[in-house]
Amino acid sequence: MEQNHSQNRRTIMLKDSQVDLCGRTDFTRTAPLLARDEAFSFACAGCGGCCRGREDIVLSGFDLWRIAARLRLPPRTVARAFCRGSIGRVSRLPVLRLAPLKEEHGNCPFLTGNHCAIHDAEPLVCALYPLAQEITKDGQVSYFLQSTQCGGQVIAARVGDYLTRYDVPAREATDVRWAQVCMELEDTVERLDALFEPVFARRMQEKLWQALYYRYDFAKEYRPQLEENLLWLDGELKKLEGMQMRHSTIEKSDR
Ligand code: SF4
Ligand code: SF4
Repeated sequence: MEQNHSQNRRTIMLKDSQVDLCGRTDFTRTAPLLARDEAFSFACAGCGGCCRGREDIVLSGFDLWRIAARLRLPPRTVARAFCRGSIGRVSRLPVLRLAPLKEEHGNCPFLTGNHCAIHDAEPLVCALYPLAQEITKDGQVSYFLQSTQCGGQVIAARVGDYLTRYDVPAREATDVRWAQVCMELEDTVERLDALFEPVFARRMQEKLWQALYYRYDFAKEYRPQLEENLLWLDGELKKLEGMQMRHSTIEKSDR
């Protein structure tokens, strides 16, 4: 996973391994990008199968905050209860995914019957499906159609109408900001990972989890908190860098 992803582009899609919203993936888009007034169609029997056996539903910080606000629980509590965290193998950034319930045939923890219990706060990848989103470093947003290989009722729509139906345009600016933040942080983390000894690298990861996912109040607006957390993170990373520098200087003078 994680290869063949340009650092200038972030792609979000459901199913089939394109996973790491906070990093590079093994996905190379072959489907053409669609204009917003373009029509597309797909077949769906409404079986809920795309909410089962899923390891690839990655949440952005905004996704987590929306679910937290819906459940009225702190983001960290939601993550502990329903998610699995990892570090992007190439991006080195935190990646949070919904954790399928093994004892429930791998169902998404929010699947009840064939319905999503958090429908009005569903993650972006779920809202988009079967469309996927691509965001460039300069903030251009495009959409394309994933292959579903499902049968059933044929659903046809214009891209713009489909996105509006699932409230995607209302959140697009925040999703662009998130994508750009992650792309910028990848460069910072790559530089600091090369500099930091393990103890400082671990602390950096803790700060990243805080700033990107956990240091949020579900009762307050998301965007101001994101900006505030990015300023906080910048200060914390500078402090860690200073500590690492001092530590290295002391080690050298002791030799
Ligand atoms: S897209 Fe396919 S798997 Fe998902 S609900 Fe429709 S038929 Fe079922
Ligand atoms: S969050 Fe909702 S839509 Fe997304 S996989 Fe889970 S049950 Fe399905």
